[in-house]
Amino acid sequence: TNPVFTGVETTVFETMSRLAMAHKAVNLGQGFPDVDGPLDIRKAAAKALIDGSNQYPPMLGLPELRQAVAEANSRFYGLDIDWRTQVIITSGATEALTDCIMSLVEPGDEVILIEPLYDCYLPLVKRAGGIPVRLRVTPPSWSLDLEALDAAFTAKTKAILINNPMNPTAKVFSEAELAAIAQLCVKHDVYAICDEVYEHLVFDGAAHRPLMSFEGMAERSLRIGSAGKTFSLTGWKVGYITGAPDLIDPIAKAHQYVTFTTPPHLQKAVAFGLAKGDAYYDDLVGDLSSKRDRMAEALTKLGFGVLNCDATYFLTCDITGLGIGDNDVDACRRMVEEAGVAAVPVSAFYGGEAPTNFIRFCFCKQDHVIDEAMSRLEGWM
Ligand code: GLN
Repeated sequence: TNPVFTGVETTVFETMSRLAMAHKAVNLGQGFPDVDGPLDIRKAAAKALIDGSNQYPPMLGLPELRQAVAEANSRFYGLDIDWRTQVIITSGATEALTDCIMSLVEPGDEVILIEPLYDCYLPLVKRAGGIPVRLRVTPPSWSLDLEALDAAFTAKTKAILINNPMNPTAKVFSEAELAAIAQLCVKHDVYAICDEVYEHLVFDGAAHRPLMSFEGMAERSLRIGSAGKTFSLTGWKVGYITGAPDLIDPIAKAHQYVTFTTPPHLQKAVAFGLAKGDAYYDDLVGDLSSKRDRMAEALTKLGFGVLNCDATYFLTCDITGLGIGDNDVDACRRMVEEAGVAAVPVSAFYGGEAPTNFIRFCFCKQDHVIDEAMSRLEGWM
């Protein structure tokens, strides 16, 4: 007998982080901040760890975190969410995605995915027996072809998985694109799994709008968030799903056998974090957008074709004509080995034939780290 999870490679984030460590490189590959999130949130976790309880919390999550998630939905988006029946806490957005796909997708169901796509989507959908239907957005605008979108919906479509704001494109879906997706979901009676982990990392005065807030979408959307992104605590792996009670119920059935629950002290601290005042959220955006500008300016000077970045903490760049080759995987390998800077090849975000001239840099790093990376690149190129 053989193990069956074949055709699945080690994720590019792990691969690049291992290489970064081996070559003592500045790691601008895997997306994580190099400074931990707010001290008061970490202290809340430490206090809860010491005071206890350190036993299994309720399977759906601590009531205070479910309440905080419901409250955040109302505060930021005007969504009316019943914390008792419409919120479930998971061990990161990754588990949330797994639970949603395991509970909704049956063998033969088509699931629409928008490409480039976050790395776990395809293997999860395939493992559930689903048939991925990949719909591509293309640079530099990454805008959605509404005719192709319409054509992607068939009688077999069970769900669409949308990542908004989108990794690695740093795109925020337009109101018109979201409205078109919503209309098609309603028309074809399709679920929407909404990976909105970057909901609070939206720049230049723009505001995130959940797909769930569109007409007819409350009953068919599963909105996924992550404390890792919102509070710069990626190692905590605390995620949350908001959705209609009749969807949360089957998702809980998946969750109970995937992880059952999530560490209680982290849940308590995230509840405290979500209630932070507007200044916290504004500072996060201000801080990250100045880092985006710092890195974008330096990369542009070096000749990279830096694409627009409206959200997330990633810059995607065209490497054409730079003299570092026109193959992203090769360029990233040489960059980490020779320049001591790790980035991620964007072709890793495709399930089929992919463009090979884009690489992704993560900019949620201290200014001196960004500067060091840029000067290493300058010396190398
Ligand atoms: N989401 C992060 C990224 O895009 C990586 C998370 C992970 O390593 N699994 O870089």
